[in-house]
Amino acid sequence: MNMETPPSLSGLETLSDYDPDALPVAQARLFIRQFLVPIAQQETIKLDTALGRTLARDVLSPANVPPHDNSAMDGYAVRAADCAAGSLNIIGNAFAGHPFSGSIGQGECVRIMTGALIPAGCDGVIMQEQVEVSGEQIRFSAAPRPGQNIRRAGEDIRQGAVVLPSGQRIGPAEMGLLASLGCAEINVYRKLRVALFSTGDELQQPGLPLAAGQIYDSNRYSLLGLLQELGAETLDYGSIPDDPARLKAALLDASAQADVILTSGGVSVGEADYIKRLLAEVGEVVFWKIAMKPGRPLAYGKIGRCHFFGLPGNPVAVMVTFLQFVRDALRILMGQLPPPPLLFRVRCTSNIRKLPGRTEFQRGILLQDAQGEITVRTTGEQGSGILSSMSKANCFIVLAPEQGNVEAGAMVQVQVLHMN
Ligand code: AMP
Ligand code: MG
Repeated sequence: MNMETPPSLSGLETLSDYDPDALPVAQARLFIRQFLVPIAQQETIKLDTALGRTLARDVLSPANVPPHDNSAMDGYAVRAADCAAGSLNIIGNAFAGHPFSGSIGQGECVRIMTGALIPAGCDGVIMQEQVEVSGEQIRFSAAPRPGQNIRRAGEDIRQGAVVLPSGQRIGPAEMGLLASLGCAEINVYRKLRVALFSTGDELQQPGLPLAAGQIYDSNRYSLLGLLQELGAETLDYGSIPDDPARLKAALLDASAQADVILTSGGVSVGEADYIKRLLAEVGEVVFWKIAMKPGRPLAYGKIGRCHFFGLPGNPVAVMVTFLQFVRDALRILMGQLPPPPLLFRVRCTSNIRKLPGRTEFQRGILLQDAQGEITVRTTGEQGSGILSSMSKANCFIVLAPEQGNVEAGAMVQVQVLHMN
């Protein structure tokens, strides 16, 4: 994609075959994707602060891992060809970090611990469980094959091999892997800056008392958690009443500071109209009714160079639309290549009510039954305001548009919630 001239939102025309009131989930994802140009700026950071960051360059192994041939077992390092007699004399020790520095001759062996360097000339290790020790001598019945119980230098990673590719998200395993190569610093993309606000006259902040008709602003906290988990830098604009002047000021300020603006509320029928007008003034934004439940309304667009995602107001719908559309979009902007969602089929032990027409993302709990089979059940009540359903869930039960009711015992498709 050309970085200087990203496509215009008139690309919406490519969707003209679709009913604007029932845009399929996959189509909306594809539409958004064409506008996503990863951030280019890089920085060098210390490895201990790398969790959640994105590698900006391939990391090549500077050396073989492990660096030397070493023992996979506690036992005795021997010359395989010298074992026919079934007994050898112990002439020294090799411990991890304390190699045996001598050389071994005919009829000799070295006591060796797991991870210790294989002494020069040895080509096999006999496990300690397979020998009888008497004084300075071992006896055994089976000679080792050459190479037996030896981990070879470079067996894990060869010098010069790409260990982690550019675009790799750094998790705990990657931190350890980079440390195992001796990397103290890495090149990563700068953090993605995401500005965030909730909209609604009814919103009150946690910690303050509720007046009649008020509810607490929970969406901003779910979204802060999702963004922090992703490793984005958040710019929290709080909650903003349904006042066009204040919303406009927030949008303009945020679009100058951030790579992405994320809002919740104000995109449903009735409210969408003035927000639509407002967004048309400051940028280019499309409003969709996605053929999904929960989370029907979604707005996407650009305000200057800044991406805009307008999520629905219902607390479950916020999380579902974030997880289905926004998370991967942000990962792409961060320079990552998110793998396609991990979907698989399992037996469902609940009855599920569903009308054909939309994709539903019901909240589910995957568990293992007494026979070891993985099954899924729903979290119960599926209303789009019931945030406890997201807390209980470890997966979505993804029901295709044409699907109707599901009988307990039928197979359903699930999507695990954790990030892969
Ligand atoms: P809206 O899309 O603004 O009409 O909001 C839909 C529903 O979600 C309404 O019941 C709102 O009160 C609720 N809602 C909107 N924003 C929030 C928020 N930040 N936290 C909790 N509930 C919200
Ligand atoms: Mg509202």
